[in-house]
Amino acid sequence: MAAKQTPLSAAANAEILRQRRNKAAQEQQSYRQRALRMFPHVCASCAREFSGKRLKELTVHHKDCDHTNNAPDGSNWELLCLYCHDHEHEKHKLVDYHGGARPEDDEPAPSTFSPFEGLDDLLKDFPGTDESSDDVDAATK
Ligand SMILES: [Zn+2]
Ligand SMILES: [Zn+2]
Repeated sequence: MAAKQTPLSAAANAEILRQRRNKAAQEQQSYRQRALRMFPHVCASCAREFSGKRLKELTVHHKDCDHTNNAPDGSNWELLCLYCHDHEHEKHKLVDYHGGARPEDDEPAPSTFSPFEGLDDLLKDFPGTDESSDDVDAATK
């Protein structure tokens, strides 16, 4: 309980920034925590059980694949281990690509599309990408 004793040090500022950057990640974490409280720590697909350190291998799958659909009753969640989760999404992708038919061999996806093409040019237009510097000032005053 040593709040308000010292002014914010550089380290404290860095910590605040770090926490802000983690906020999005934490929001993602929070539905995971809720799901983990709600369901047994067992993969819904392969039925392996996870505990302790390995619990992080158990992930929350959104049944309708909408990550913003976090129904409070957990009805859109399914706990899947990393492997089954990967597999689950792979299945959906293949259904999309191939109209429901799964190909015999795993062809690599064509890599003609580059989502980051031109990103360098875009970033050049924004030299002040350190968007948090204003926030630091406000926090120290
Ligand atoms: Zn599994
Ligand atoms: Zn998923």
